[in-house]
Amino acid sequence: MLDRDGTLIDVVRDEETGVITTAFHPSQLRLLPGVVEGLLLLRDAGFVFAIATNQPGPAKGHFTVDAVTRTNDALVTILAGHGITIARVKSCVHHPSGAPGGDPNLVGPCDCRKPKPGLLNDIARDLSLDRAASWMIGDTTSDLEAGRAAGMRTGLLFATNRCELCPLRAAGAAAECGATPPGKPDVHGASLPSLARAILAAV
Ligand SMILES: [Mg+2]
Ligand SMILES: [Zn+2]
Repeated sequence: MLDRDGTLIDVVRDEETGVITTAFHPSQLRLLPGVVEGLLLLRDAGFVFAIATNQPGPAKGHFTVDAVTRTNDALVTILAGHGITIARVKSCVHHPSGAPGGDPNLVGPCDCRKPKPGLLNDIARDLSLDRAASWMIGDTTSDLEAGRAAGMRTGLLFATNRCELCPLRAAGAAAECGATPPGKPDVHGASLPSLARAILAAV
């Protein structure tokens, strides 16, 4: 189970305003370094891939559900070009509070927005997965919580510029940061290849 933004692809930074958004058009897709290498390691070990992603943009009026679908489809095509098959893509397009211009039908609580496990439960059912043998890989604590809630093991991909994730790293980093860890992943890595190797060492 793969998170999308910050795990497979980079966020989108507007050079002029500095605003950070998530990709909503195929032209904005940028695979993060090591993604192909890491996924190939896992593929060769027999793992099946799915993407589980929170996309609140439609609920906030930022872009449409069609834009989410088109962007996800393009990502699947890019990965297929590298020999990586994505068996399912599930997006939560809801948001608890929405924003002006958002589709009111998508605003409010739902069962699929991570850290809830709805997306993972749907994928596990669709693909008849063995949850205990499955992993959720993501870059935030909500990915970890969703994975655990779905009965899966968890792998945290952490970027070095995200201090809120320091508590999830090695004990030394947690002590340095001083924050309370909300829950440790089973394995972690600074890039997808290192995370993949940690997962393969743990199975
Ligand atoms: Mg993410
Ligand atoms: Zn949802």
